[in-house]
Amino acid sequence: MIPFRKETPKRRDIKTVVKRYSDHKNDLKEDFKCRCGYCSDIDIWRTTWFEIDHFVPQKYLKNIKDTDYSNLVYSCRSCNNSKRAHWPTGNESVHNQEDEGFIDPCNDEYGLQFLRGLDGKITYSTKLGKWMFYKLKLHKPQHEVIWNIEETYNLINECKEVLKEIDSPEIKDRLLTLYDKYVEYTLKLSEN
Ligand SMILES: [Zn+2]
Repeated sequence: MIPFRKETPKRRDIKTVVKRYSDHKNDLKEDFKCRCGYCSDIDIWRTTWFEIDHFVPQKYLKNIKDTDYSNLVYSCRSCNNSKRAHWPTGNESVHNQEDEGFIDPCNDEYGLQFLRGLDGKITYSTKLGKWMFYKLKLHKPQHEVIWNIEETYNLINECKEVLKEIDSPEIKDRLLTLYDKYVEYTLKLSEN
């Protein structure tokens, strides 16, 4: 098992008044480093599948406005749809109690509720983690797939550097072709 994520996203203290909460999407993408706050999937290949989640669901907002940056999470469609309006405390200022509810993904504690297998699968490490795991459907296969594509992508980039030292032109050509094809097709996945 390895840590669920490499770092905790941090929101800037953005107080800009906007008309629609979607006006914050670019700032969220930047602060969440292009990753879903909940599953940590990177958005490179599925950019248009990324949305904005209200951490405290809109139906429970009293003092928080639906455009308040501090309540927004950059989220993949899967996590956003799965989370829906689940909010067991029913109170905007109580995020969880008795191992039910959510932790803000920008809190270091969020990442400690889960672990990741070496195969990229997410699992839970606490009772609250288990509750969130099933509500967010973190068992869905795309999380494992996207994590592995990203790992492979990074590995190929490392290999490309090592390639420079290889003498055989034939191997070099084949590997460079493979690399270019891989990049071409992964980029096609983000074209919509
Ligand atoms: Zn997600």
